[in-house]
Amino acid sequence: MPGLLRRRLLPGAPSRVLAVVVVAAAAAVVAGTGRPVAAAGSLEVLAAGAPYAGLLAILAWRARTVAHERNVWGRIALGVALMTAAVVVGAVLGLFPETREVAAAAMPWAPVVAFPLVYGGVVRWNRLSTSLADPHDALNGSSAVLAVLAVAHTVVQVAAGPASEAAWWAVEPALAQFAAEFVLVGTVCSLPFLGNMGRDPRTWLVVTSFGASLAGSSVTLVTAGQPGIWGWATEPVTVVCLALAAVLRPGRAEPQPTDPTASTIGAFVVIVASTAVLAGGTLLGVAGPATWCAALATLGSSVRLLTNVRELAVLAVTRREALTDELTGLANRRALLRRVEELSGSGAPLALALLDLDKFKEVNDAVGHAAGDHLLRMVAARLEPVLRPGDVLGRLGGDEFAVLALIDADAPLEESALRVARRLHDRLAEPFPIEGLVVHAAASVGVTTSSGGPDGSSSPTQLLREADVAMYDAKRSGAGVALYDSERHADSSGHLALVEELRTALSDGQLVLHHQPQLDIASGATVGVEALVRWHHPVRGLLGPGEFLPLAEVHGLMGVLTEEVLTQAIAQAAVWRRSGLAVPISVNLSASNLLDAGLPGRVAGLLAEHGLPPGFLVLEVTESVLLTDPDRSLAVVGALADLGATVSIDDFGTGYSSLAYLRDLPVAELKLDRSFTVDLLTEPRTEAIVASTIELAHRLGLRVVAEGVEDEATLRHLQSLHCDTSQGYLHSRPLPADRMEQWLARTGAGTPVH
Ligand code: C2E
Ligand code: MG
Ligand code: MG
Repeated sequence: MPGLLRRRLLPGAPSRVLAVVVVAAAAAVVAGTGRPVAAAGSLEVLAAGAPYAGLLAILAWRARTVAHERNVWGRIALGVALMTAAVVVGAVLGLFPETREVAAAAMPWAPVVAFPLVYGGVVRWNRLSTSLADPHDALNGSSAVLAVLAVAHTVVQVAAGPASEAAWWAVEPALAQFAAEFVLVGTVCSLPFLGNMGRDPRTWLVVTSFGASLAGSSVTLVTAGQPGIWGWATEPVTVVCLALAAVLRPGRAEPQPTDPTASTIGAFVVIVASTAVLAGGTLLGVAGPATWCAALATLGSSVRLLTNVRELAVLAVTRREALTDELTGLANRRALLRRVEELSGSGAPLALALLDLDKFKEVNDAVGHAAGDHLLRMVAARLEPVLRPGDVLGRLGGDEFAVLALIDADAPLEESALRVARRLHDRLAEPFPIEGLVVHAAASVGVTTSSGGPDGSSSPTQLLREADVAMYDAKRSGAGVALYDSERHADSSGHLALVEELRTALSDGQLVLHHQPQLDIASGATVGVEALVRWHHPVRGLLGPGEFLPLAEVHGLMGVLTEEVLTQAIAQAAVWRRSGLAVPISVNLSASNLLDAGLPGRVAGLLAEHGLPPGFLVLEVTESVLLTDPDRSLAVVGALADLGATVSIDDFGTGYSSLAYLRDLPVAELKLDRSFTVDLLTEPRTEAIVASTIELAHRLGLRVVAEGVEDEATLRHLQSLHCDTSQGYLHSRPLPADRMEQWLARTGAGTPVH
């Protein structure tokens, strides 16, 4: 056996059986007994049956050994089993003159009966290699056979050759066999046509095999059953080629998804051919089987076409759904990334802007998900007019939107990108009316650019990451808009990883509290400590809250984080109190915490669990937080105050709020922002504001804490303005619990230090 063939053979291929098939087929050709009905002796029976039996053995072996092609070769093997039985029975019947005619009439039906099996196998093979056919395409296959039959009938009648004169029982099976084989050859040919030929040489063999069979039946038909050499030479070729194809290794081919388009084209071709037969038959006066077959073929293919139309409609919906965001109807992440890929591949300069709504979670929590969804749709509608033709607006999920904007090749890229980002930002600056409320849903916009060209284009995910980093920067700085700057943002590009690490940190106890004392200015006694969160990052060391709190807020981790801080702070205050260091502890709450109606209940639970009286807990909230959704946050603040905890307004003076809410809120403390303390001695206007704020607070029955006191002179001045409490580096920097404990013990908590 040649080396090349040996390499191509499947391991363990039954090459002996193959040799028997080849020799038997050759013998059949030499003996002239390729056509079983011509058999006249027991030797001929053997010569006719042996190649088929060998082929059957090879196919059965093949189906059993190559699992992923079992569907293909198993079906072909069943078809060949049927043929083998027919050939043997036909040859045996052919031995006796009285049964010879029956055999001659029945034998041509064998390939017709075997057709659905072999066709099923070929279609499945096709499916493994191309997207052309659908495995459940039997309706198309049989309609195609009927159409070919109709055409063949018409040709036979119009040509008026010997076949038109022969008895129907002699012609019909030959025609049916011709039609079935014609469709088989057509189906197999779609393999080479779709480029499979180079990859899988077996297709050549199968095409040759079925082609030889078709040639045989064509000649039989044309010669009205007297095919001569063609009759007995073609069948052994069919058998040998198929046997060879079965022992070869499969070529490389990826299974393809079913595509109804291909079978729709098939059904359409059948309908056109059958209609032509019907029309032509009427013109030429041809009637009978041709008309019936054409009508049946049209019916079958029409049914197939209808199912396909339905399938295509479903496919269209699925494709649309796969690329659009259900809520807003905008492009989804996949569609957007795909478009970015197309455009950056084409070398077009573009900008990718990422928008994240600043207050979406609060709105969602406050007014409910339905209103939140409504807000997202309104945002989409507001952004759309900003787009120019070719631009894409998409929603990436949650409250994140993205805009892919094409930039004119001659325009300055970064400037244009920033202009787009600002336009988007400004569109959302106006408040949205939702359920009678006026909601400010301003967005932070990060934008990045791709100049196109060979070195200028980045991958879609890279661009998205850059835009995300810029967006995060815009959010953190409060600027609203930021352009990605590879130098400035190089080390912040890891912030997404940081979010994941923060999740881990929260569950692994990497968050710790540092404590900063608050001193009564008049007496110098320590009257409280503020708990300030820190992150013991395993690699980056100790991180301050500025480095991860905005992340926690944006990525919805604030609730868990606050819970952790509250737990640690309450536990610490309880421990200190038991050891004689009785100081109230202050904990900072964030915007999302105040919209969480369950918070007061959980705080009460923690206080009870650690046995800390509520008077030892101070909860700091900032003014802007209270303005997000006043009704709801006021309810939460009210419930916290009802527990007996002290509510404090942090960073007072930095918000835009009126003082009106001070009247309605159960607040007991104001913390003057550090910016006032810093300028107190140098800015007379600041001093005036501080003085009147302290006075107003006292009138309302609130105590005032000055933040950021760094020097003795400032402390003295605050004292002259009757400020109650001082907090700042002057007294101590925020310290870990053990060092704070030493500090408290040294200075004497609750005892005067001055
Ligand atoms: P804050 O609540 O206004 O806390 C005071 C901040 O000022 C602290 O910064 C503190 O270290 C710093 N500070 C205190 N005295 C001085 C001083 O004399 N000079 C200067 N320059 N700074 C001083 P820190 O710890 O970095 O915290 C920053 C902000 O992070 C806090 O401002 C608070 O808003 C937030 N934060 C801290 N811990 C938490 C927490 O557990 N939860 C929440 N939601 N926010 C927290
Ligand atoms: Mg604070
Ligand atoms: Mg503060």
